[in-house]
Amino acid sequence: MVYDDNNVFARILRGEIPCHKVHEDEHTLAFHDINPQAPTHILVIPKGAYISMMDFTERASDGEIAALFRAVSKVAEIAGVTVEGWRLLSNVGINGGQEVPHLHIHVFGGRKLGPMIV
Ligand code: IMP
Repeated sequence: MVYDDNNVFARILRGEIPCHKVHEDEHTLAFHDINPQAPTHILVIPKGAYISMMDFTERASDGEIAALFRAVSKVAEIAGVTVEGWRLLSNVGINGGQEVPHLHIHVFGGRKLGPMIV
């Protein structure tokens, strides 16, 4: 599968579409989901062009991989959900329900979350 340069998150990274930014560093960007499913619903993405988790772990540097997971924890701290608890989730491919073909990790919190649905 070839990375689609025109996916919405690539366009956010290029500044072509605005986002409500939560956190940014050399390798990552985090912003509020446009259609939140919980009081806290933030997306954390790598700045590199990776389609999903498999692509990321195959091609990204150790530094990029570490940065993404550090950014996820940082975002949970910024959102103030670490004491009461939160959830991270990444949908992969068609069966995983992935709509945007640029790797993203959802950070949910702010209420008691329901059970995982499979
Ligand atoms: P997926 O189903 O895991 O691919 O999730 C894609 C997420 O991106 C959904 O929760 C959408 O609400 C969110 N989304 C789509 N477009 C935008 C946008 O322009 N800004 C912020 N979030 C977006």
